[in-house]
Amino acid sequence: MKNLDSFHNEIMAAKFEALYKEAEEARKNAYAPYSGFQVGAALLTDNGSIYRGVNVENASYPLTNCAERSAVFAAVSGGERHFTAIAICGGKGTDTKVPCYPCGACRQVLSEFCGKDFPVILSDGVYTLGELLPYSFQLEK
Ligand SMILES: [Zn+2]
Repeated sequence: MKNLDSFHNEIMAAKFEALYKEAEEARKNAYAPYSGFQVGAALLTDNGSIYRGVNVENASYPLTNCAERSAVFAAVSGGERHFTAIAICGGKGTDTKVPCYPCGACRQVLSEFCGKDFPVILSDGVYTLGELLPYSFQLEK
């Protein structure tokens, strides 16, 4: 994990900060009446588009979808398959200081499209997908 302040490339650090702000904005649309845990994600594509995602809960709890997968599915539905970074912001109420790590399912879904160096931006810094999921499931070796 790297703190945003530790990035030598100021342009990249600014881009990541802006993406995190997009995730914060997305979070306002989260539908989480059961847990109260609202999550927003912002997925930056290689061509500069940003796809937002939120968690969408359901009275039948297992049908809930995470913000990260919502963003990936929206992007793929829009014809995008090459991603630069994702920012994730989540927590209960107004508390978003604690990093909201993506769940295992979302890590696996990201690994379908993103390499081990793919940046995952959280409230406490930037992780790589390889740090978060070192041994993803792959059909081909
Ligand atoms: Zn998830």
